[in-house]
Amino acid sequence: MNPISAWLGLLVLPREERRIRLRFLLRRAAVLRRMRQSTWGNGDRQCPICGYHGIFAPHGRPARLDAACPSCGSLERHRQIHLYCERMKPFSATDAVLHFAPEKHLTDYVTPRVARYETADLRDDSRLTHPRLNIEDTRLPDGVYDWILCNHVLEHVNDAKALAEFYRMLKPGGRALITVPVAEGMPKTYDDPTIVTKEARLLHYKQVDHVRFFGRDIRDRIRAAGFELSEFSAEWVDVVPFALAYNNTIFIATKPAA
Ligand SMILES: [Zn+2]
Repeated sequence: MNPISAWLGLLVLPREERRIRLRFLLRRAAVLRRMRQSTWGNGDRQCPICGYHGIFAPHGRPARLDAACPSCGSLERHRQIHLYCERMKPFSATDAVLHFAPEKHLTDYVTPRVARYETADLRDDSRLTHPRLNIEDTRLPDGVYDWILCNHVLEHVNDAKALAEFYRMLKPGGRALITVPVAEGMPKTYDDPTIVTKEARLLHYKQVDHVRFFGRDIRDRIRAAGFELSEFSAEWVDVVPFALAYNNTIFIATKPAA
């Protein structure tokens, strides 16, 4: 029974039964209100992608508060990448871009701003319109892209092979925009080849399909592929209004021009 039907149903009940039922519905409403208050954010946030103002929704298991825009579904990292793009204006009208595991928000932003926009995904899913590519061995030509966009993928694959592919496919001076979950308190990446089951990966890496947890040495791993590295991190002046995460970093890996 939906909530409105439950309240309307009171009208046809005998008086005593109505009183008991009403008390139950009021208690249930109070519990739901308390649950909502403890899981939903309570600040007035803004989404820089869709312009929504208001309370943000929880996301993930366990839930992160203030994570999802209830209007467009953007998460913290999507909003941070959008801010990076708006502030740094990284794309030019002549650029060729390859986007792995494309997020709709970023696709919508990039497509009208560049000359060529291509997508690829590891998943074998007939609902996806882009080609299925192995990010560790794409078979795409050398030196053709100005940008590679790759968010929350490297923790699922052999990152050294994927980064080598990025380097090979980028033009000299080309850049890769990379985000991954990083434990900044951990100096070395946690990567144990004996952890192979879904249960063990969930226990050790927090997700059943992750194969490592990156530490601060993610920077060394990116540089080891030949890249120069810069970073874009959120400051509190953006974290608070846009409900970003303090510990999210966007890595910009540049293939040297010479
Ligand atoms: Zn939004």
